[in-house]
Parts: sequence; structure tokens; C-alpha cells
Amino acid sequence: MEMTKDLKLSVSLDEFKTQYERLKQNEEALRVSEERYRLAVEGANDGLWDWDFVTNKFFISEKWKRELPNEILNPKLSIMGKWTRLIHPEDLNEALNSFKEYLKGNSEYLFCEYRFRTKDDYKWVLTRGKILRDKVGKPIRMAGSISDITYRKIYEEKIKDLAYYDRLTKLPNFHYSKEIIGEKIKNNNGIRKFALFLIDLDNFRNINDTLGHQFGDEVLITIKEKLKLIISDNDILCKTGEDEFLIIKDIDYGKLEAENFAKEILNYFQGPLSIHNHEIYSTISIGIEIYPDNVEDAFGLLRNVDSAMYSAKEKGRNTYEFFNTDIYKDIVKKISLESDLRKAIKNNEFELYYQPQMDLNTEEIIGVEALIRWNHPHKGLISPVQFIPLAENTGLIVNIGKWVIETVCKQNMKWQDMGYEDVVISINVSSIQLQQKDFINFVSDALKKYNMKAELLNIEITESTLMKSIDSVVIKLKSLKELGVGISLDDFGTGYSSLSYLKKLPIDTLKIDKIFIDDVNEHSIEDAITGEIIQLAHKMKIDVVAEGVEEKNQIHLLKSQNCDKIQGYVLSKPVPKEEVIKFFKSKL
Ligand code: C2E
Ligand code: CA
Ligand code: CA
Repeated sequence: MEMTKDLKLSVSLDEFKTQYERLKQNEEALRVSEERYRLAVEGANDGLWDWDFVTNKFFISEKWKRELPNEILNPKLSIMGKWTRLIHPEDLNEALNSFKEYLKGNSEYLFCEYRFRTKDDYKWVLTRGKILRDKVGKPIRMAGSISDITYRKIYEEKIKDLAYYDRLTKLPNFHYSKEIIGEKIKNNNGIRKFALFLIDLDNFRNINDTLGHQFGDEVLITIKEKLKLIISDNDILCKTGEDEFLIIKDIDYGKLEAENFAKEILNYFQGPLSIHNHEIYSTISIGIEIYPDNVEDAFGLLRNVDSAMYSAKEKGRNTYEFFNTDIYKDIVKKISLESDLRKAIKNNEFELYYQPQMDLNTEEIIGVEALIRWNHPHKGLISPVQFIPLAENTGLIVNIGKWVIETVCKQNMKWQDMGYEDVVISINVSSIQLQQKDFINFVSDALKKYNMKAELLNIEITESTLMKSIDSVVIKLKSLKELGVGISLDDFGTGYSSLSYLKKLPIDTLKIDKIFIDDVNEHSIEDAITGEIIQLAHKMKIDVVAEGVEEKNQIHLLKSQNCDKIQGYVLSKPVPKEEVIKFFKSKL
């Protein structure tokens, strides 16, 4: 009996020993794994926390403990009190809400992101947590992790900024404006009307090209400030394109109210903008669309307001236009014009008209400007003002321009044969053509092919062409000059003409725009600006052509100002090749 008792005891002692060993091993393993976990946690910027509801003790891992401000030690505050004090006031509601939602059982974990005050500053943190319950379901502990997500948040904000705001003006961009409109529609249920006003600057491209992007940026900022003054508190101002602003405005009295607001904006932009001692005259065009008159979705509204704005531009700029379904018809017309234009070269629908130029000293016709005309099979003669911009936007100008060069070279050959040996032919070249790599070669090949003297070809470019990329343009113009081709600066006075940069340019001729020539008529000679332009040009060994001369007395005045050549209706309108020869002096 005794023995069995001893045996039992020793067996259980052995058992105890092995169990103890196992426990120790487990504990060691646990310690090692805990240590490993701790290291991993510390390294990963994560922390652990554990809140014991029974003892009301709060544990947080070492690294985070070091970060907490001293007030956390305040014994008078409850744990919840301490914690909520550290959450950024703007994020507190949301954090508490997630907590409540979790307690209600609406989420499996506690999961919330908020700004959290540390000793130094606020950090963005992500808190995860879970409640542990006893057998009867009473919460006894809550534990979880806390991670520093500041970098991720900064990065996210940056991405959001890029995706949602215009870089320059910090206004909501197109993408964001669409969301804002979408939200407005969602919360509105079609009860309250609102209007979109799309505002586009009429000559922004010109400003950018001639005065540079930095200046262009300042113009946009000035416009933004101006628009901010005119809108009311509830209106939203967005920047939806390079030079496009959108105003989203609640309206109560329908179209008339929107119309009055558009008029107000237009009036507001009548005067000049003053930027760095430059007076900029920039009128605007406004498209208007009212929700829910035509469509009821954000995308449709934005598309319509855009069409309305283009329609306002076509009406002659500096005006406004409501969206209406006719606008669609105009767009369709434009598209069909484009497809017609594509076929025009092949179908031989282009023709060059020629306008004579007279030398004021000898009073002889010394040259012509070639001006393109399009004989549309159904629409008749279409002016270049109507299709050149379309040709430029679609790139079709490159082939049209090549056709012009070939045609004038051929024409020269014919005129040579007829004995008109020294008629200089000027052609208009747009910047897109000049940017083509093969432009110089194309010109020199055409001259050779039709045996035309380079001196008889003159290329007219405008200031905006020059400003697009002045260095590369200057290189091209120099190569053209080396060939012997003449270069004219066209429409002088309509851009931001500065005589000082003329020095840098390899140009032979300056064509003073019609607006200055008209001025010659209205003012006394002393007041006319042409005189000064001519003098300065002559100092730089540049010839001057006066464009758009319509009356005889202008010829007299221009002559007295030493202008070299004139061109205009006073001599002749542009006419077909057969008609222009009557102005030439034959050497046969
Ligand atoms: P631009 O180069 O300034 O041409 C002068 C324009 O003024 C011509 O209009 C001409 O008909 C018009 N004009 C000439 N004298 C007078 C006048 O005394 N009074 C008035 N009121 N107008 C006058 P057009 O032919 O309609 O050409 C318009 C513009 O189209 C040209 O302006 C030029 O920029 C462009 N263009 C014409 N042909 C070509 C071409 O072959 N290629 C390119 N890229 N552009 C062209
Ligand atoms: Ca011209
Ligand atoms: Ca011109």
C-alpha cells in the first residue's frame, strides 16, 4: 500500500518535472517570439496597446510611450479622456464614431485613421483594435495596434492635390469640378437650379506666346482674383482648362438671372488688366448651361457648357451664349468641314489669289502676296480666315502649305516665261509648317525643281510664330536667308510688338498691320505711330510694307513717312493669277 503511494508520488513528480520543463521551454519560446515580435513592431513603426477594463490599466509599447506628451501622466484623467485629448479636434468626431460603430457590432475590428498629438507634433496614425470578452460576453480588455502613417498621408494628400486641384491657382480642376457637380445633383433631387458659367480668355494663347508662360501664369492668377471678387460665397470657382474658369452658381430665377450674371462678368473684364506695368486687354467668352434644363448629369452639363463657350467664341468673342441644341448642329458642320478639308488638296479645290505690292519710290508693282482660297464644291469660295485655323488644329496645314510653295514656284516659272522676271512672291507660313524638320529642304528642293531664284520668294511669318520657340525659329530663318529667301514679319502691331527684339531676328521686311494704317488716316502725321515704326525699322535696315491701304491720301502720308512699300485695296484686292499680271511690268 505504502509502496504504491510512493510510486504514485514519484510518477507524479516525474510528470511534474517534465511538464515544468515543457512549460519552461514554451515560455522561452514565447519570450523569444515576443521579443522577435517586439523588434518587428518597433522596426515597422507600429506599436501595440492593451487596455485592461478590469484593472483599468493601459499599456502601450515603448517606442510610442516615448512619443506621448507628458499630460498623459495626469492621474485625474480617465484613459478615454487622455486619449481623446490627443486626437486632432478635426478628426475627433470621426474617430469616436468608428469606436461607437465597432462597439455596436457594425464592424469586426476597430479601424480608424486620425491625427494624433505626440511630444513634437501631430502624426497621422492608423489604429486597429479588438475587444476581448469573458465567458459571459462581458468586455474585459481591448487590444490592438497603432501605426504611424504620416508619410502615406502626405503622399496621398499630394496625389489628391495633383488629381483634384489646378497646380497654379489651387482651384478645383476639371476632374474635381465634375465631382462637385455630381454631388450637387445628388443632394439636390432636381429641386434647385444651378448654372455653370465657363469662362475662357479670348487671346490667352497670344499672351503666352508673346510674353512668355510666366507672364501668362500671372495673368491667370489675376483673373482668378478678379473672379473671386465677383462671385458670392456659395458659388464655386474652378479652373477646368489652361485658360478656362468654371463658376458653379445656384440660381433661383432661371435664365434671366444667369444672363445678368454673365453680363456682369463681361463688364467686369472690359478694362485692361494691369500686370507688371503691362496693360493687358483680354476679353472673355462665356458659355452657360443650366441644370436641369437640357441634361441632368455632370458629364453632360460640362460637355454642353463647353459647346456653349465655343459657340460664344464663334459669335465673335467678348460675349456669352447659352447652350442650345443648335450648337450641336454647328459642331456637326465643323466636323464635316474638316473631312471636306482633308479631301480638298486631292480634289484640287485650292487656288491662290495674288495681291500686288507697290514700291512707293518707283511707284511700280514689285511683288505680290499669295493668298489661298478654297473653292468648296457646295459652299463656294471659303476665306482662309475660316479654314486656316482648322487646318492648323488638325495638322492639315503642313500639306496645304507644301501645296502653296509648289504652286508659287510653278507660277514663277510661268511668269518668267511670260517675261515678268522679277516679281517677288510672298507666302504666308504658319508656325506648324516652320516646325517641320523638312521645311528648309522642301523649300530649297521646290526652288530647284522649278528653277526659281530664291530672291524672288519671300516668307511671311507672324510674331506668335516667333515666340513659340524663338531660338529654333531663328535658326530656321537664318538657313532660309542663306538660301537667299526673304523674310517678312507679318501683322506687326497686333501682337505684343516690341521693336527691340527685331534686332535679334533675321528679317528683311516688316509688314505694319492695317489697324495702324487706318490710324494714319484718322490722326495727323505727327501723331501717327507708323512714322516711328518706319524710322526704327530703317535704322535696323528693315524695309516696311504698309498693309491694308485703302485710300489714296494714305499713300501720300505713308510716302512722307518714308514707308517703302504698300499693299491694299487701293491698288487691288487679291485676284486670280490671270488678273494680277495686268499690274506687272514686262521685260520682254
Ligand atoms: P494676312 O497675311 O494678313 O493677309 C492680308 C489679308 O488682308 C488678306 O485677307 C487680304 O485679302 C486682306 N486685305 C488686303 N488688303 C486689304 C485692304 O485694303 N483692306 C482690307 N479690309 N483687307 C485687306 P485674306 O486673303 O482673307 O487672308 C486672311 C489671312 O489668312 C491672311 O492674313 C493670312 O494670315 C491667312 N492666309 C492666307 N493665305 C494663307 C496661306 O497660304 N497660308 C497660311 N498659313 N495662311 C494664309
Ligand atoms: Ca500675310
Ligand atoms: Ca498681314
